[in-house]
Amino acid sequence: MSPKIEGRLSLCHLAEECAEVVQAAMKVVFFGPQGFDYRLDPRTAPSNATSLEREMGDVMAETLRLEELGVISLERINQACHEKVAKLKAQNRW
Ligand SMILES: [Mg+2]
Repeated sequence: MSPKIEGRLSLCHLAEECAEVVQAAMKVVFFGPQGFDYRLDPRTAPSNATSLEREMGDVMAETLRLEELGVISLERINQACHEKVAKLKAQNRW
């Protein structure tokens, strides 16, 4: 597979994982961090917070893959992260 196609495929995976983060985050909002999927065995079901953490980990994995493929730069992502934190602090939202 060419690097260009691999990059596009990885971007699709990133988008998919971001959608899963949105879904997991909304479950925490609506049902709380300790809630869980009622269709699963309550003794073994992951909490909504754990599910959110797993999906965020999936996003991070796709992020690392995109960096490996040369599509994005972790250094620039880190810079953007610091800028966002500074902005939120300036707005008293941190
Ligand atoms: Mg996922």
